[in-house]
Amino acid sequence: MQRLQSYVYGTWHTGTGEHRPLYDPTTEEVLAECSSEGVDFGKVVNHGREVGGPALRGVGFAARAGMLKALSAAIHEHREELIDLSVRNGGNRRGDAKFDIDGATGTLAAYASFGKRLGDEAFLPDGDGVQLGRTARFWGQHVRVPRRGVAVHINAFNFPAWGMGEKMACALLAGMPVIEKPGTPSALLAWRIAQIIVESGVLPEGAFQFIAGGAGDLLDHLGAQDCVAFTGSSKTGSMLKGHRALLDRNVRMNIEADSLNAAILGPDVGSGDEVMNEFLGNVVTDMTQKAGQKCTAVRRILVPSDRLDDVVSALVDRLSAIKVGDPGNDDSGMGPLASKSQLADVRAGIERLAKVGKTACGGAGSVDGLEKGYFVAPTLIVADDPHADAVHADEVFGPCATVLPYSGEAADAVAITNRGGGGLVASVYSNDWNWSQDVVLGIAPWHGRVWIGADKTAGQAMAPGVVLPHMVHGGPGRAGGGEELGALRGLEFYTQRVALQGYQGTVGRTFGPKSEG
Ligand code: NAP
Repeated sequence: MQRLQSYVYGTWHTGTGEHRPLYDPTTEEVLAECSSEGVDFGKVVNHGREVGGPALRGVGFAARAGMLKALSAAIHEHREELIDLSVRNGGNRRGDAKFDIDGATGTLAAYASFGKRLGDEAFLPDGDGVQLGRTARFWGQHVRVPRRGVAVHINAFNFPAWGMGEKMACALLAGMPVIEKPGTPSALLAWRIAQIIVESGVLPEGAFQFIAGGAGDLLDHLGAQDCVAFTGSSKTGSMLKGHRALLDRNVRMNIEADSLNAAILGPDVGSGDEVMNEFLGNVVTDMTQKAGQKCTAVRRILVPSDRLDDVVSALVDRLSAIKVGDPGNDDSGMGPLASKSQLADVRAGIERLAKVGKTACGGAGSVDGLEKGYFVAPTLIVADDPHADAVHADEVFGPCATVLPYSGEAADAVAITNRGGGGLVASVYSNDWNWSQDVVLGIAPWHGRVWIGADKTAGQAMAPGVVLPHMVHGGPGRAGGGEELGALRGLEFYTQRVALQGYQGTVGRTFGPKSEG
């Protein structure tokens, strides 16, 4: 039996005690097991702070950007092997596996390119300086400096590669050592990437540590210079937010959680419009990619009532044509859910939604012809009432979405969408810019990202479910209230902004933005 190890204080540690099994969700076979018992988490934190941090900050931003580039290349070299692990332990189709793995290497490479222009100073100027006194002698300048602690990254099971890569990219570029803890059910892929990172020798010792298994008492050891970036369910996020040690010491925390992402079809869109085709394609992709286990997947589909029948029938045609089965087979269009408990949660969620509408395709039952594995069919439910509480209450983290008929009025679309209580992304499809603007401005305060589709961009834009390193990712309310990525904005979480006030000749000249050339 393969035992996953943790990489802590410069060595690979095999856990003791009871181990948690990791499954192949297609065959239900146990593939590996892991435990973090016996890890001294206080020592892990000190090792990061005292060994990794100073080594990382001993070089500047541009040099750390070079490390990210090398890490991206080292991981990419093992792409085929990693895809195979992702298919086996994550139940991902090859395309879904690439989405995760290339997402990780792509984000590391993107941050390498954002960082290479930052030079080799130990700080980043933050905006322009400002005259504070009667004359320009007394001057103010904001700068950002790397925090002196560790960055703890707790990730969800659904993106073992990208989740680790995108968080590491920002923290390491900022100059903070990382402690990576993946979601256990799919940790095989993250563990193999951890091995590649360690073997590559790209990072100085202590800059990267990896926990296979539970987080133990890790959080109890954190202090004011440390950060926790968490991705997972809003339930776990809320529990961690209330952690006594984190509260008492004001440990900085970022939470990426659930989201009932909406796709909103405008009343002007007809069946012949390019944007209609794009809407149908994106909804189906976002519902079924990674079997719907994507934080950005579409959960609620707003459709003008007078188009309901046509749109539902077009979606059902596309969803029913997807062959559910072994993700390793080329003809399979969607694999299983990642774990048995995921399957139980998704079935229970579908049953709750089915009570407030009609099931147009799929359902909570088993999939014909599949005896083993955690499979569920793509499921579309048409709600009787777009305001039904069940639709806006729980995220069903699988290939399931609910169609919500609405009047076509922008105000109506805004009111229904915002009932989600805060989301990562909403997509708006219309060729009527006045209507789109009303919807965009109405939903913007409740979302981290709004994706706007029209004939002009049809065929040119990636689906709304794709998170890009250049744009911020996160969202208010139930989405966790956090923010990641967004190019150099992603470094803010890992740095301390400090206002410097003094003589312009020293403060302004040393810490102000350097003019190009
Ligand atoms: P989860 O059950 O909340 O677990 C998330 C992570 O928290 C896992 O690594 C888990 O470890 C860890 N954890 C659980 N209890 C902990 C504790 N007491 N102390 C420290 N760590 C603890 O979520 P999940 O089932 O893995 O992921 C699915 C959820 O993630 C969905 O709700 C999805 O929407 C959300 N998600 C959000 C985003 C986003 O960017 N907003 C992205 C992806 C997923 P173990 O696995 O070892 O229990």
